[in-house]
Amino acid sequence: MYRIMKKTIFTVAGIVLAATTATGPAMAQGYPTKPITLVVPYSAGGPTDVLARMLGVVMARSLGQSVVVENKTGAGGTLAAAYTARAAPDGYTFLIHHNGMATAPALYRRLSYKPLADFEYVSQVLDVPMTLIGRKDLPPKNFKELLVHLKSHGDKINLAHAGLGAVSHLCSMLLRQAVGTELTTVPYQGTGPALNALLAGQVDLLCDQTTATIPYIKAQSVKLYGVTSSTRLKALPDTPTLSEQGLAGFNVVVWHGIYAPKGTPKEALEKFGAALKLALNDPSATQRLTDLGALIPDDDKLSPAGLQTWLQQETQRYTPVIKTAGQFAD
Ligand code: ASP
Repeated sequence: MYRIMKKTIFTVAGIVLAATTATGPAMAQGYPTKPITLVVPYSAGGPTDVLARMLGVVMARSLGQSVVVENKTGAGGTLAAAYTARAAPDGYTFLIHHNGMATAPALYRRLSYKPLADFEYVSQVLDVPMTLIGRKDLPPKNFKELLVHLKSHGDKINLAHAGLGAVSHLCSMLLRQAVGTELTTVPYQGTGPALNALLAGQVDLLCDQTTATIPYIKAQSVKLYGVTSSTRLKALPDTPTLSEQGLAGFNVVVWHGIYAPKGTPKEALEKFGAALKLALNDPSATQRLTDLGALIPDDDKLSPAGLQTWLQQETQRYTPVIKTAGQFAD
């Protein structure tokens, strides 16, 4: 279940303008007294990065300080998580991460942090479904034809992903299991470079977030084979799900959470969480993201317990999938 967004006329540029003119003096007395770092595990320009930057700009309004995005890429997001776990717990470092927080313990035999124990859990953020897209000149015109193509061409098909541990990697593993053919997976440092490779025709397929792919789908620069959520999307109403098209039960949606180093003061956690909630409740701030397919979770998920419980469930869900795929990232 997701909250329905009201239509609004504000644009992304409008958000930036509003943020630079509307910082409130109310919080200037106490925390925060300096800019806050929001660590992003993937490269600039990818969906996680875009989400962090857009939210950060809006959150700065109520925090009275800027939120500075720091991209710490590599090792499937584990470098960023490890960095955050070790950062000073002073309220000035937060991490935005996605399903990778739940897949890392199964993918990495040597992980320097425990996702379920070594952090403070602030809130879930937005959910973003994915699309399975192909290079513009890939012969199959629809998913049915793609299935036949995959069966006959097997490991000659290159499926790009945003790095071991990325959700696009998880999607590619699930796809291989569901379709029952070997596909060659090609890792990149994030969706930005993976998408560029697809647009340049260097790889055949990519499963990635709508927030990154919809502009290219609309411009017909890529082929669209289906959405990965269990139900169709408002942003792409005529596009069938993969589940509808023969992969019964296929369901991959990217969810995001905000974490802080263990021991971060309660006041900082609450203020950062409150600023996030305000941003997500402001349709003018989130309209661009929801137009690109992002979904705002219900209020109960926008809480520390909402994130922690979800992380536990997702860790249990993915661990057997990864073990079956027999893939380790280290
Ligand atoms: N979309 C990427 C993933 O598959 C990450 C990113 O570049 O934002 O996890």
